[in-house]
Order: sequence, then C-alpha cells, then structure tokens
Amino acid sequence: MSRPIDPTANAPGGPTQERLAQQTARPQAPKPDVRVVVLAGPTAVGKGTVSAYVRTHFPQVWLSVSMTTRAPRPGEVNGVHYLFVADEEFDRLVQTGEFLEYAVVHGRAKYGTPRGPVERALAQGRPALLEIDLQGARQVREQMPEALFVFLAPPSWDELVRRLVGRGTESQQERETRLATATRELAAADEFDVVIVNDDVRRASEELVSLLGSRPSH
Ligand code: 5GP
Repeated sequence: MSRPIDPTANAPGGPTQERLAQQTARPQAPKPDVRVVVLAGPTAVGKGTVSAYVRTHFPQVWLSVSMTTRAPRPGEVNGVHYLFVADEEFDRLVQTGEFLEYAVVHGRAKYGTPRGPVERALAQGRPALLEIDLQGARQVREQMPEALFVFLAPPSWDELVRRLVGRGTESQQERETRLATATRELAAADEFDVVIVNDDVRRASEELVSLLGSRPSH
C-alpha cells in the first residue's frame, strides 16, 4: 500500500508532535495492579531495543515471544526474539485459537502472540510485557481491558526516519511501507494509557518497567 506521508503532520512542532508532548506531560496514573503491559509504537522507534534492555536488566519481567512468518534477521535467535514458523503452521494455529492476537504487519508477514505462555506467566504471578503492533494492541484491549497500554514514541519524526534508514535492514520500498504504517500508528497514540518517549533506551525501559511495579536488578 502506498499512501503519501504527510511530513507536516509529524514534523517538529506539527500536530502529532504537539499531541505527543501533551500526552507525555499528562500525569501518568497507572491502573492498579498492572500485570500485563502492552508496548506498541511505530516502526523503528526502538521497541525491540527497549525489549532487549528489559530482557537483560529486568529478568523478573516475562517477555512474550511472538510467532512470525518473516525470515530471521542476522543475529535473531528462534525462541528468543521470535518463534519463526511457516505460513501454513501460523494459519493452523490461528484456526485452533492459539493466539491471543495476531495481525499481518506492514502488509507482509504475520505476527501473533501465543496465548498459552501469557496465561502461564500470569498464573505464576510474573508481570508480562507484550511488544506488538497497533492492530494487535487493539485486539488485546478487547480481551484484556485491565492491561496497561503503552505507546513508545520517537523524540521526533526526523529521528524516526533516521533510525529506520540507519538500521539498514529494509529495502527502499520496505522503508516507505513502514513509514506509511508509522504515520498511521503515530496518529493512534492517544488511544494509549501512557506515552513514553524513547530518547534514551535505559530511561525509557526503566519508565516502562516502573509501570509494572518492578525495580531494576542492577
Ligand atoms: P519486526 O519485523 O521489525 O521485528 O516487527 C515488525 C512489527 O511487528 C513491529 O511493529 C512489532 O511490534 C510487530 N510485532 C511483533 N510481534 C508481534 C505480535 O506478536 N503481534 C503483533 N500484532 N505485532 C507484532
């Protein structure tokens, strides 16, 4: 899908920026006894980096491992970063109701959160973190309205573009698709309970984990 990106919407001082600033300034009032945090945000904002930081520094937080039909990137480990499955296997699991949520992301690969592991983590009393896209976050809200929905925002639109280009893992066409998705996702920030600006990975991660009532283990 190609939709022209409106650079003014997300430009510094533009409407999206302004709204994000208002939201981050808003007092954060987490729901009581938050045990599930859903982290969403636009492509390349650093959700993966924040999740990796949480994995390393906050082992008490249980991170959901998503299933995906996309190919692994260099360095990605099956079962740690994702469970990589074939399309047919993914569809079979959809049919048998194995997913808490699932979506086709960026019009290409399928991604989903296996339901069983989330339920087991919660039964063990471990706080759970789900890093998923906007479509998935909306599905989880239907099923778990008590969860806390956190939007990870870039410091600016230019910085988001810089991170996506700098990552160098996508083709030009793929980048354009992802930026078009990002524009839509930024516009949905006000659906979330809390907005965290990812200006510094450690700070953003600690803010995120503080919402789960956990403390750094370092
Ligand atoms: P990537 O391919 O860059 O790892 O991830 C692409 C997008 O898929 C990201 O926005 C990521 O948050 C999202 N994603 C990862 N896992 C899931 C999942 O289980 N469900 C949904 N709905 N989105 C996911």
